[in-house]
Amino acid sequence: MKVFYDLHIHSCLSPCGDDDMTPNNIVNMAKLKGLDIIALTDHNSCKNCPALVQVAQKAGLDVVPGMELCTSEECHVICLFPTLQAAMEFDAFIESTLPFIMNSTEAFGTQIIMDKDDNITGHFPILLATASSVSIDEVAQRVRSFGGTCFPAHIDRPSFSVISSLGAVPDAGFTAFEISPQGNADELALKYPVIKDKSIIYNSDAHTLSDIREQGPWIELNSPNPGILIKKLDNNKKLYNIF
Ligand SMILES: [Zn+2]
Ligand SMILES: [Zn+2]
Repeated sequence: MKVFYDLHIHSCLSPCGDDDMTPNNIVNMAKLKGLDIIALTDHNSCKNCPALVQVAQKAGLDVVPGMELCTSEECHVICLFPTLQAAMEFDAFIESTLPFIMNSTEAFGTQIIMDKDDNITGHFPILLATASSVSIDEVAQRVRSFGGTCFPAHIDRPSFSVISSLGAVPDAGFTAFEISPQGNADELALKYPVIKDKSIIYNSDAHTLSDIREQGPWIELNSPNPGILIKKLDNNKKLYNIF
């Protein structure tokens, strides 16, 4: 079946995410937009995934628990996991790799953790908008050791991308790459041949509700299930996305 996806969405846990990006608002907006599967990918944290998964289950929407990891080179990488347990184990590992810098809500924004009813259960105190100590060369192997898969985020953007931070697109075991919605995969593949036969993913990187994708890019899957999606992304075959 044609599965409409948006695999890069931030919640109110990301300091740059809008406070309206609550678990219930995200799920309701994704359903309104006709998406079949979404991923929650806050900066360096999965701590709103438990609430989002619960809300989505009740609403009949499939959710991939995930994270937008910032590598030691300041490259953003989307990490996706088949289960909440795997995501939370990865979350604990990444938390141990972050520099111990307290968040300043005035300077960076709030980092709100919520329950399934959008009640605030805490504010994560350590700044999430920092680089972890995980390198771009080790991230794919690390994520796979937790049963997940990962792909470099918005590779054509002028900041926090592999191209902006490294000046290149590394192979490093990646089977997929995310390009901005307005990006041109064919042009990028000419310049960076490593992406040529890889899966190209188009996500919203939504920080506000209105930015969550409309139906557009899709993946052919037997069902919109996190485990099946991760296997498909990881099989190193080109996916066809049609707008
Ligand atoms: Zn990013
Ligand atoms: Zn992002």
